[in-house]
Amino acid sequence: NRVKGQQPHVAVLAFPFGTHAAPLHNLACGLASAAPHVAFSFVNSAKSNATLAAVDSAPPNLKFYDVDDGAPADFAFDPRSPEEEIDNFMRVTPGNFRKGMEDAVRRTGGATISCVISDCFLWFAGDLAAELGAAVPWVGLWTGGSRSLSVHLYTDLLRETVSAGEKGASDVESKVDDELGFLPGMAGMRLCDLPEGVVSGNLNSVFARLLHRMGLELPRASALAINTFEGLDPAVLIDFHAKFKRCLPLGPLNLLCPPPSRPDSTGCLEWLDRQAHGEAVYIGFGTLMTPPSAELAELAEGLEASGAPFLWSLKKKFWPLLPAGFLARTADRGLVATWTPQARVLEHPAVGVFVTHCGWNSVLESLVGGVPMVCRPFLGDQHINSRSISHTWKIGVAFPEKTMTKDEVAKALHVVLRTAEGKKMKERACALRAVALQQVQPGGSSSENLRALVAIISTS
Ligand code: UDP
Repeated sequence: NRVKGQQPHVAVLAFPFGTHAAPLHNLACGLASAAPHVAFSFVNSAKSNATLAAVDSAPPNLKFYDVDDGAPADFAFDPRSPEEEIDNFMRVTPGNFRKGMEDAVRRTGGATISCVISDCFLWFAGDLAAELGAAVPWVGLWTGGSRSLSVHLYTDLLRETVSAGEKGASDVESKVDDELGFLPGMAGMRLCDLPEGVVSGNLNSVFARLLHRMGLELPRASALAINTFEGLDPAVLIDFHAKFKRCLPLGPLNLLCPPPSRPDSTGCLEWLDRQAHGEAVYIGFGTLMTPPSAELAELAEGLEASGAPFLWSLKKKFWPLLPAGFLARTADRGLVATWTPQARVLEHPAVGVFVTHCGWNSVLESLVGGVPMVCRPFLGDQHINSRSISHTWKIGVAFPEKTMTKDEVAKALHVVLRTAEGKKMKERACALRAVALQQVQPGGSSSENLRALVAIISTS
């Protein structure tokens, strides 16, 4: 595709919701630094581009382009129907990305696009690359864990196995505890750990159809990049190495391509400096989730009952939902903050346990910190991540009834912080941390895979 002597030009296409664009952005920055002779164009919605912390400090060969997000002028985000934003966006794809790439070519002095890297959710990116030329590779980045991707690669098989859609949801319900050991590396995972829209719930929602289509298209990609590391889920990765033309685990991406360190605007790290090693509880449910108000109160009471020092990332608008007098009663041993530099918090030696919704970025950050987890998953891949933590890696506990009660919170914290079982979880988490650190060192597999990706984009 590229005229001989012309600068290679990589279009990086983002999925602008949740914490999706951030790891792709980290990767784009890492690649742009490693390949200064290549032009990179990060194509994303204006709203998402604005949230990327390092836009201003990105390498000079990485430029940002805004595309239409399909939202009507009077659109207001409703947290009760988060899919609406995605539906609006998907309706204007792939035309908005095509336009964004044309814009990027014009503004880069006519350098044609020689490689497309996209979030895997953008299943049509392979077609966009093919339109640009038969030799233009498509590299998909899966920002989640390997098991959560496997689910979408094997959706048809899973549906056939449980006859989803034929006998109805009640039939699936009777099988929720059935294990998925017939899929590579999925022993111990159960039907109830699958995201909604795979075998249960609405199989025809925009999102369910997107993920199903992605599972079918992705094996066409020239390479799959994935934010995990060799040694974490070996059997799943062996399967991926067989299934994909190239499978490049690059995780943990925030170690391999570190984003600029976030400022400690709420004083969390200083507060942690004053706590005893390994005793503090950190609570955070990511950027989108907040437990329902009754559960939030149970969690607060459980924390109080545990007697442990705690740091809680909770948006200010939810503070009024905390039990009356909670903040005053726990002021000497607790800090509730509107935001934390989470990755740095989880690496702080004072943190002994993380109460998490099991979003993949949070899980990796906890692994990097060697911190065991207490899992309260809500939706999507969070259930399968939770099951991996509690059942496969054995570095945390999940609530028996999924939701949090005062007694179960106090019990879970006790197990992790004060029992021999908890000590073992800590040791296993630290062992995984050591593997992760090794993979991002020069010569480590994530590090070598980044070099392989640089070669793909430099020579295409
Ligand atoms: N995060 C943070 N401080 C907070 C809350 C969240 O830095 O107070 C970051 C966290 O470190 C992680 C991301 O937000 O990198 C959340 O991503 P995750 O995949 O865990 O969850 P999502 O937000 O996509 O549900």
